[in-house]
This record gives sequence, C-alpha cells and structure tokens, in this order.
Amino acid sequence: MEKVTSGKRLRTCRACGKQFEYPVKGSAATRHHCEECVQVPTHLRVVAERLSARLANLERQLKRLQPPSTPPA
Ligand SMILES: [Zn+2]
Repeated sequence: MEKVTSGKRLRTCRACGKQFEYPVKGSAATRHHCEECVQVPTHLRVVAERLSARLANLERQLKRLQPPSTPPA
C-alpha cells in the first residue's frame, strides 16, 4: 500500500541532515548529498559532514538519557 514512485527514495543528506528524494530528474543531488550541499566545496562539505555526524551522535545520546515515556505508576 506504500506509494513509491519510480524508485524514488527519501535520503538524508550527509552534510546538512536534510531529507531529500533521490533520484529527482534535473536535480544535481547525489545519493549522499542534497542539491544544495552538492555545490559546497569538498573541503567545507567534509567539515559539515563531521559536524553532522557529531550532532547525530549527540541526538542518540540525548534519546538514551530521556526516560521512556511511560505514565507514572
Ligand atoms: Zn545537504
């Protein structure tokens, strides 16, 4: 029942974390980078990817610190 149009998939940009569809006709986006980040010079994109990975890590840790949302007994 899922609507999947012509093999398009929702991907997460490695540099900015944005979700984008790939492949899209006429879009410069690649499998790992959205249309905007593709135009960023490689050396800056590397930095963005590093920060993005750190953020993802922090988010994971934050989730672990949050108690599961169970109603108080
Ligand atoms: Zn991006």
